Formats: sequence, C-alpha cells, structure tokens
Amino acid sequence: MKLALVGIGKIALDQHVPAIAASSDWELAATVSRHGTVEGVPAYTQIEEMLSAHPEIEVVSLCLPPVPRFLAARAALEAGRHVMLEKPPGATLAEVHTLEAMASARGLTLFATWHSRMAHAVAAAKAWLADRKVQSGRITWREDVRKWHPGQDWVFEPGGMGVFDPGINALSILTEILPAPVHLTSAELEFPANRQAPIAVRLNFTGAIEADFDWRQEGPQTWDIELETDAGSMALRLGGNVLEIGVAKAEGAESIMEEYPALYARMAELVRQGASDVDLAPMVHVADAFLLGRRTAVEDFEF
Ligand code: NAP
Repeated sequence: MKLALVGIGKIALDQHVPAIAASSDWELAATVSRHGTVEGVPAYTQIEEMLSAHPEIEVVSLCLPPVPRFLAARAALEAGRHVMLEKPPGATLAEVHTLEAMASARGLTLFATWHSRMAHAVAAAKAWLADRKVQSGRITWREDVRKWHPGQDWVFEPGGMGVFDPGINALSILTEILPAPVHLTSAELEFPANRQAPIAVRLNFTGAIEADFDWRQEGPQTWDIELETDAGSMALRLGGNVLEIGVAKAEGAESIMEEYPALYARMAELVRQGASDVDLAPMVHVADAFLLGRRTAVEDFEF
C-alpha cells in the first residue's frame, strides 16, 4: 500500500522512514512537511496539495506534534484516506473522538498508535499478570529532556503535555498490562515558571499505584514499572523491553528498534480487516492529572 508521511522531523526520520523501508506492506509515496523531506520521495508542504496530487495513496501517517495533528488528520479522512496517529493521538480527547466518528462514518481505519505497547516484553508481562491480583505498583520514568527533545519548544507549549509526552508511554504500557483498570486519585505537577507544561509530575492511582515522571534526570535514564502481586513481584524495565519476574530476567531485548515495524504491521492488518484501533485510556489519565493536579512553580527551564 502507498503511504504518505506528514511531519518530517525527529521521530519520522529516526523510526518511521526506516520501518516503512523495511516493510513489504508499505511504499513511502509522498511526504508533507514545511522543511523536512526524504530523499527520492515526492515532497509537499501542504497536505491538501499532496492529497489531490496522489489519489493512489491510501494511508496517511501523521508524525506531527499533537496540536497541529487534528487538522491534518481531518483533511486526510475527508479525502477518504486511512490515518495513523503518533502518540499522544491528539491535543484533546474530544478531537480524537471526532476523528474516530469521522473514520467510522466513512468506513476508514483510524489507528491511534502507542509505540511503547509494542516494546519487546509488554505482551509477556500482560500474559503473566492476566490471572494475578496487583497489590501495588510504582512507575519511575526519568529522562533528560535536553537529550531526547533538544530545542523542541512545543513540548512545553499548551497541548505539548510536558513530561507527560514520555510519561504517557508508561501509562500506555500500564493500561495495556493491568488485569483490572485503575484511575487517578491525586497528582502534583511541577511547572517551570516560564513554561506552560510540567517538567515533573507525581501521580497516585487507585490500587496503590504511583508514578514519578521527571524530565530533569541526567546520566542513566530510568523507564521502569514495578508491580507487587499476590504471586510475587514483577518489573518491566527499559521502557517495556525487559521483564523480570522476582529478581530473574524472564524476557528481554537489548534493541528497542522493533516497536515501529510492529506498528506498521498492525496498521496493515487493520486496513485489511477494515478495523480501527483507538484506545484513549493512557490519555484519560493525563487529562485527569491536569484536571485534579496540584500545581507548583519550579525554576525556569531553557534548552
Ligand atoms: P518534531 O521533530 O519537533 O516535529 C515533527 C515535525 O512536525 C517537525 O519537523 C515539523 O516539520 C512539524 N511541525 C512541528 N511543529 C509544527 C506545527 N506547529 N505545525 C505544523 N507542523 C509542525 O517532533 P517529534 O519528536 O518528531 O515528535 C512528533 C510526535 O512523535 C510527537 O507526538 C511525539 O510525542 C511523538 N514521538 C516522538 C519521539 C521522539 O523521540 N522524538 C518518540 C516517539 C514518539 P516541518 O517544520 O518540516 O513542517
């Protein structure tokens, strides 16, 4: 199937372009970006122009930041194309509900991707937890924003979500693996005094689950989910790539390069089945944290 990529920036070049090139399902037939291009691929700066020039392109994959994504998604669906959304699927919940209704009314596929759910050990963790009772849990997601998002000011703008941009990856894993859902009961959000989105948050959920997301960690980076169950402890480390049962490594991969090929394989499957996959559970927790969270101002942040 022919596919267009929209928003040729960091994640498009790091992950989407190589995953598409390696897949026998997909051909990258056009790009849309004001500055970015992919060598040898027809490039446009306006999505409407690309859609009218390429009626043969069936699927549009959006790698834009969340705020500009809705208008591009709507244009693609209105033009009768299937749509794949980077995470988080939108800037608001309501706009994603709108896209879901549009896709459904037109018989088109909408796939709200969560790349961390494709991490190597997530399915094994879910299977291990399926018939167990989770008694408590702790998520630690601490990384260096300057390393992973150099100069990307949009992450601190309204709708950029701040530290929830990586933190929602942890929540996408949590909501996938837990055998019973939880909901947020309190949150503390630390906003740099000169920014519109938090740089660190602490969250409490029902089921004695807590989360600590921090974008100020230099040196070793931490992406851990640790759960206590009625059958002992388990941990997912390295962003869902390594599973430990007790203290023993049960499942693991050194490479985190398989997530995007798996997303594109899933998109191909959804299009063939005429189905959509839109799970907003991770984003509901983020929205609830903004609704319920206690806000404190911390020192200014500059890249
Ligand atoms: P990015 O490089 O800052 O942005 C992607 C591209 O979108 C930019 O190169 C830019 O292309 C276009 N763009 C940026 N702001 C825009 C605006 N206001 N209006 C229209 N176009 C705009 O961002 P990214 O890191 O690739 O992240 C994009 C999405 O992928 C985010 O939702 C993020 O959460 C997700 N993601 C990122 C990573 C990562 O490691 N960075 C990992 C997984 C998922 P032009 O200037 O050429 O138009």
